Amino acid sequence: MRLLKTIEEAKAYIKEVKTAGRSVGFVPTMGYLHEGHLQLMKVARRECDTVIISIFVNPIQFGVNEDYDKYPRDLTRDCELAASVGVDAVFAPTAAEMYPSGYATFLEVEGLTEKLCGLSRPGHFRGVTTVVTKLFNIIQPDIAYFGQKDAQQVLVIKKMVADLNMNLTVKTVETVREADGLAMSSRNSYLNKEERQAALVLYKSLQKARDMIQAGERQKSRVIAAMEALIKAEPLARIDYVDILSIPDLRDIEELKGEILIALAVYIGNTRLIDNFMLEV
Ligand code: AMP
Repeated sequence: MRLLKTIEEAKAYIKEVKTAGRSVGFVPTMGYLHEGHLQLMKVARRECDTVIISIFVNPIQFGVNEDYDKYPRDLTRDCELAASVGVDAVFAPTAAEMYPSGYATFLEVEGLTEKLCGLSRPGHFRGVTTVVTKLFNIIQPDIAYFGQKDAQQVLVIKKMVADLNMNLTVKTVETVREADGLAMSSRNSYLNKEERQAALVLYKSLQKARDMIQAGERQKSRVIAAMEALIKAEPLARIDYVDILSIPDLRDIEELKGEILIALAVYIGNTRLIDNFMLEV
């Protein structure tokens, strides 16, 4: 497996791959890999000739009081894990490589980014779409893989790719969960034992919502109230948001019908976790 540290090295490698006529599957990540990330790589491995991942903790998608500095990092372990699922190359640039002094260009998707995480993390999606565009330009993937775990991110990236006529396909891979239902996340490593247990409340509240809807409930406010009550009963949990919106446009709805996204962000202690279910009503 190749470790590419600079944009120049990455571009030279991609040129070789493209000249050989090989298709490129790409998985952007922030590293500290877990089974959720590896699942995206396994799907890419099945579908593409060459699999490239990026490991880059993108400073411009973090707010000033967020966890950029303490975000977990372990490149050596990540490379071993990536190699174990057949990844061909890891692109791991420094922040200075991606944003040299004087960097001035940013990309914004309107509308979709003004809901859910876009409200509680101003500037987050601007950072995501900017870095993903840079990565797409460097790696030139045929297919890029994203996790359903970050449902809004997938919708925003798909919108950006369509609006800007980017020459690639975006594929979504289902959320990988721990045995008890907690969605895998690099941020789960922040949780102590009590918090890890409390973090289950995200999954439980999503299950509660799904059960209510499957039993015939169609009023969004009632489903949200039940989810909030469940979360508020957990002393270590503090709600950032709980919402149900239409897919793919993230429109506000009161009557639950069609394709919907049940999404939430909850602080467990100081750790902000997100999760979601997608349902067809
Ligand atoms: P991150 O490193 O958190 O930026 O995630 C990199 C990619 O992995 C994103 O497309 C995420 O949606 C995806 N991902 C993260 N956690 C999971 C999970 N538990 N299941 C599936 N995909 C995931």
